[in-house]
Amino acid sequence: MAANLLARKWQDLPVKISLVESREIATIGVGEGSTPYLKSLFRTLDIPESEWMPACDATYKCGIRFPGWSAVEGYTSYYHPFFSPLDRETGAEFFSQADQRRCGKPAEALPDDFFHAPYLSQAGMAPIPRRPLPFELDYAYHFDAGLLGKFLKARALKAGVEYYEATVEKVGLSERAHGEMVIETLKTVNGECLSADFFIDCTGFRSGLLSELPNYEFVSYEETLLNNAAVALQMPGEGHGLLKSETISEALTNGWMWNIPLQSRTGFGYVYSDAYISPEAAEQELRARTGAPDDIPCRHLKMRVGRVEQHWSANCLGVGLSQGFIEPLEATALMLVQFTIEQFAQSFDPVNPGAGAGSKSIAFNQKINAMFGGVLDYVAGHYLLNTRNDTDYWRAAREGIVVPERLQQLLACWDRGEDFPGHLKLAEADRVYSHASWYCLLAGMGRFPEVSTGNKAESKKLLCDVRSFCGGNVARFESHRDYLKRLAAG
Ligand SMILES: Cc1cc2nc3c(=O)[nH]c(=O)nc-3n(C[C@H](O)[C@H](O)[C@H](O)COP(=O)(O)OP(=O)(O)OC[C@H]3O[C@@H](n4cnc5c(N)ncnc54)[C@H](O)[C@@H]3O)c2cc1C
Repeated sequence: MAANLLARKWQDLPVKISLVESREIATIGVGEGSTPYLKSLFRTLDIPESEWMPACDATYKCGIRFPGWSAVEGYTSYYHPFFSPLDRETGAEFFSQADQRRCGKPAEALPDDFFHAPYLSQAGMAPIPRRPLPFELDYAYHFDAGLLGKFLKARALKAGVEYYEATVEKVGLSERAHGEMVIETLKTVNGECLSADFFIDCTGFRSGLLSELPNYEFVSYEETLLNNAAVALQMPGEGHGLLKSETISEALTNGWMWNIPLQSRTGFGYVYSDAYISPEAAEQELRARTGAPDDIPCRHLKMRVGRVEQHWSANCLGVGLSQGFIEPLEATALMLVQFTIEQFAQSFDPVNPGAGAGSKSIAFNQKINAMFGGVLDYVAGHYLLNTRNDTDYWRAAREGIVVPERLQQLLACWDRGEDFPGHLKLAEADRVYSHASWYCLLAGMGRFPEVSTGNKAESKKLLCDVRSFCGGNVARFESHRDYLKRLAAG
């Protein structure tokens, strides 16, 4: 992603970009869900869906379903949709219902009923209308991460990026005139010495370049997000039934499990805290939940959750796991990658790299840290709002964590029945996740007071109308499976 975006951005400048990759050190091999932001990557690179989706076993994603996070009656599963202009009116009804319910009035406020995405997912539809609509729907993708990596690598090479297959063994630093340490060379195990003006660290959790710089600092999120490990498996098989256009993030005993449907297989992974369940027990639970036989291999992973303080430090930029990672609950990592590169490309002048770099990197790092903070608040909200009491893990995930201050304030505002959208705006908490996403999370988990007795008839009638409107619109969309077949056939 970095090589492609920068090659495109700097295509008319005298800049040479090289990609160094080790054959011995594999990529992490997971990361198959995205946010709608990824659409703009392909748009920027002029890559149509008909080209990359069939090549990467990709499917559409209309949103995420969250079963099992809440024990509140009527709210034991909810859907976080990507929004479409079709949702404008029913969405407004949802906010109003949720606001009434916050104030103890009887109202139906499960997000699933009010947005088109869950209806489309459930019916096995792609978010592609049969006849053009005067607007585009927001949607994301699922894909085979390995295939997408290969696809993007081939594109980058075609765009003129040079490629070295080499394992870097040592990072050579030197001191600039005013005392700043910078990276000068990368020494490979074969004895080569690669030099450059600027380096992008995409080495994964090891932060192989950034961590060599003297001011390297990692800000851990482990006190807020307990999960630090995952176990993943893939079930082959091109199902013949409905191909649902959704990720399922289902709560298990000591964490949660993703279910990501691709065209030819389904990926599953259990994200958990190893302080509460051993890797062996997690694997056993994952196998039992998915029905995966013993001959399907599992991959065990450790996660370093947090971020570096300086993503751009001296002449190095961290991108991807090397800059930080917030656990994959909302599939935000590639969004952070893309955002980081795009912001960097706006701030950095490759022809005159030293010009104003100090102040530019300070502003840049603030922006990226704010983005991480926004994702952290939203992801942490899921754990804080969980109402499970079946294991120590779920109680600790709610009661034993450090809650980010802004999240505490948001929750207090919601609970007091005050102007929630206004508060989100004021706290700039709607910059990363819109107020619709926050409403879906809080209402979806059933964060409401006891309902005073009252007449529910009006709310029930509204629900009936909303369901028939959204349900009726489903027929206007393409079948997910059929559409992907047509896309592959060209
Ligand atoms: C459990 C889990 C689930 C995830 N789910 C999602 C998701 O649903 N959505 C999402 O957006 N993201 C997800 N992610 C994150 C996603 O996997 C990563 O953001 C993405 O794959 C990018 O990884 P990376 O390139 O930073 O690191 P890696 O994939 O680890 O790649 C590191 C690269 O650096 C090279 N390298 C390392 N050291 C050297 C060296 N010394 N010399 C030369 N080369 C070297 C390696 O060869 C490799 O190519 C998930 C992550 C985890 C852990």
